[in-house]
Amino acid sequence: MPFDQLGLAPSLLEAVAAAGYSEPTPIQAKAIPAVLEGQDVLAAAQTGTGKTAAFTLPLLHRLGETQQKKPRVLVLAPTRELAAQVNESVRAYGKAGSIRSTVIFGGVGYQPQIGQFKKGVDIVVATPGRLLDLLQEGHADLSNIETLVLDEADRMLDMGFIHDIKRVLKYVPEKRQTLLFSATFSKDIRKLASNLLNKPVEIDVAPRNATADRIDQKVVMVEKPRKRAVLSHLIKENGWHQVLVFARTKHGANRLCKQLDSDGLPAAALHGNKSQNARTKALDGFKDGKIQVLVATDIAARGIDIESLPYVVNFELPNVSEDYVHRIGRTGRAGEAGEAVSLVGPDERKLLKDIEKLIGKQIERMTVEGVDLRAGENDEADERPARRPNNKGGHGNRPPKRGGGGGNNAPGRNQQRRRSRGGNRGGNRSGGGGGGQP
Ligand code: AMP
Repeated sequence: MPFDQLGLAPSLLEAVAAAGYSEPTPIQAKAIPAVLEGQDVLAAAQTGTGKTAAFTLPLLHRLGETQQKKPRVLVLAPTRELAAQVNESVRAYGKAGSIRSTVIFGGVGYQPQIGQFKKGVDIVVATPGRLLDLLQEGHADLSNIETLVLDEADRMLDMGFIHDIKRVLKYVPEKRQTLLFSATFSKDIRKLASNLLNKPVEIDVAPRNATADRIDQKVVMVEKPRKRAVLSHLIKENGWHQVLVFARTKHGANRLCKQLDSDGLPAAALHGNKSQNARTKALDGFKDGKIQVLVATDIAARGIDIESLPYVVNFELPNVSEDYVHRIGRTGRAGEAGEAVSLVGPDERKLLKDIEKLIGKQIERMTVEGVDLRAGENDEADERPARRPNNKGGHGNRPPKRGGGGGNNAPGRNQQRRRSRGGNRGGNRSGGGGGGQP
């Protein structure tokens, strides 16, 4: 079905053509008509499916050309990066019109954001924490919101934003259109949906946990101390120019970056301990080719939108199988081919099995010529820093302490911090709003 049969305004069709989209993705074909009709939508869709345009296009259509002082659309997103990207999409698709949008997240100054509300804005894209700060201080008014979008709602729940979301919702009219996008429909998402949505149109574009066929997935069985050498070897031998590598912890990401740099591979880390400036710089460098390898933690990587990202490497498998699907979904986006390689140590076999069960197939094992996959005596030294105990503390870059079986417990840490925020409104708010810290 071509775009022009969906009922979108000509200026939006032009924007779509300018973006180079020839036809709607499945989620767009289903969601756009429903959103245009004013219906609530519950959509299972991962990043890479075109979900952003699936809600921004029809919402821009519905807003028309009239500016109003108070915002009419609110999009809540889990991370600064995702919020910024949604806002960029709104601006790109709405370029020809007069609708104004703004993005609100923590970690940056309050004044410009307050100024945006003062000037008047039609669409607000925000992470929940900072928005709540602005609401509680009386700087934002959401009493005219007509449509609320919860983007990557599963992540927002994972990151402990549910309380902030509920508080934000108190400022939003009950009578409104609500759209909820989530990669998975967990029990918690279903519960949230049943509280927030009114007779939603349910959209489930692809088998939820099936990985895209166009992604070439491979596993290299390799002992842990050899992983870095194997990664460098793969990148160099295959001439991979733009590789997104997933690490479990911020500390691990930093360490790997340094090692790759010393192997002659320009690398940068992307995680929540980095300032907004450092993140933007890392992403820009990666996009324009100055940085060959971006090492990211799961949540930091959520919002990254890079067209045709060709290679994804799991330096460690994620503890949660669904995260594997998210991770490799960063490649092979919107019809492009992609390659995903997982470096799997002996201690990760169980995780691999769980992932294969989830995606319903065995991932091809690959051997790598010209590099040792087995650890020798010299490798131990390479390994040791990863296990450094963290009880000396002091700086913010320590590996997670909590979490029982799961090493990558950054969302949980966020959760704790979030919970403690409620009663501390008058205190130091500067680290408060952004979310997306892991
Ligand atoms: P999203 O799932 O919203 O993060 O979008 C994933 C990527 O698909 C983005 O880079 C979009 O620019 C791109 N995209 C969105 N809609 C289409 C479309 N209809 N055809 C081709 N690419 C698209």
